Amino acid sequence: MAVENLVIIGSGPAGYTAGIYAGRANLSPICIEGYQSGGLLMLTSDVENFPGFPEGMMGPDLMAKFRKQAEKFGTRFISKNATRVDFSSFPLKVYIEDEEIQTKAVIISTGAATKWIGLESESRLLGKGVSSCATCDGAFFKGAKLVIVGGGDSAMEEATFLTRFASQVTVVHRKDHLRASKIMQERAFKNPKISFIWDTEVLEILGQDGVTGAKLKNLKTGAISEIPCEGFFVAIGHEPNTTFLKGQLELDPKGYVILPKRPTTATSRPGVFAAGDVQDTIYRQAITAAALGCQAAIDVERYLETLH
Ligand SMILES: Cc1cc2nc3c(=O)[nH]c(=O)nc-3n(C[C@H](O)[C@H](O)[C@H](O)COP(=O)(O)OP(=O)(O)OC[C@H]3O[C@@H](n4cnc5c(N)ncnc54)[C@H](O)[C@@H]3O)c2cc1C
Repeated sequence: MAVENLVIIGSGPAGYTAGIYAGRANLSPICIEGYQSGGLLMLTSDVENFPGFPEGMMGPDLMAKFRKQAEKFGTRFISKNATRVDFSSFPLKVYIEDEEIQTKAVIISTGAATKWIGLESESRLLGKGVSSCATCDGAFFKGAKLVIVGGGDSAMEEATFLTRFASQVTVVHRKDHLRASKIMQERAFKNPKISFIWDTEVLEILGQDGVTGAKLKNLKTGAISEIPCEGFFVAIGHEPNTTFLKGQLELDPKGYVILPKRPTTATSRPGVFAAGDVQDTIYRQAITAAALGCQAAIDVERYLETLH
């Protein structure tokens, strides 16, 4: 069986950028891009903060350009999910169901899935007023009334950030207290633009082509109410796409890939590198994911040199 130079698992900004760099370095990489190729930007409409596109770009169009550029330099694509890996010996092995691929190096760039509430109206209005990324989409809501769901540090950070644009931000939380750290709570409580609705879940996000409000249920009294808003942010966490890696790589308690040799992208296993949101609990942007994809490809080039 032929041993590949590099298998890239995942196809968002990190995976495709790794493909561009590794392709241009003549490594002829394989990118296992998953059944939902293109990554999280496929879920969004306007991307205004990716450098080089001053007029903005639709998320899916941007990812199509990434993919085309990787293909141009010789990246080969498999539009399926990697289901299992075996990093215990050399060559490394990546499996798609029963199909085995042997390779000298692997880049993990499988991202982190947003946790959603799970409402039909939430997926219907995603990118049309519903978002899970304040840094990405906050600027679209100048002077607007916003609702944000969540009670952890990220929710408080995002709520505080959104007050730069919004006229009012209402945090809706299922409990009567926050999970966020004291300092993040205090910052949010002190902000005159942030208010809280406790013990409450969201039943529906209202609106047809854009968000007009949210239907709420008080979990203690059962009372149903509606709150008007033009934007709805979900901040209840992320889940790294790493279940297929368990036992093969060092992961943190939440499942993010640990990079013990930062600033390199090397993981706990020789020849295995990671890039993008799968190892990032802080920045979670297309540009930071792409940057790590570039770094990982360069790390792979150098690693392969050491094998000669
Ligand atoms: C609603 C929304 C709007 C956003 N807007 C912006 C914005 O305007 N600007 C910005 O910079 N960022 C934005 N982001 C954030 C940005 O999308 C992410 O930071 C970025 O996509 C992360 O890139 P990634 O390559 O690490 O992972 P992802 O983009 O998540 O891609 C990972 C890919 O790996 C695939 N995969 C997962 N498991 C497997 C497997 N086992 N085998 C094969 N493939 C697999 C997935 O299907 C996916 O295609 C937004 C995010 C969301 C959710």
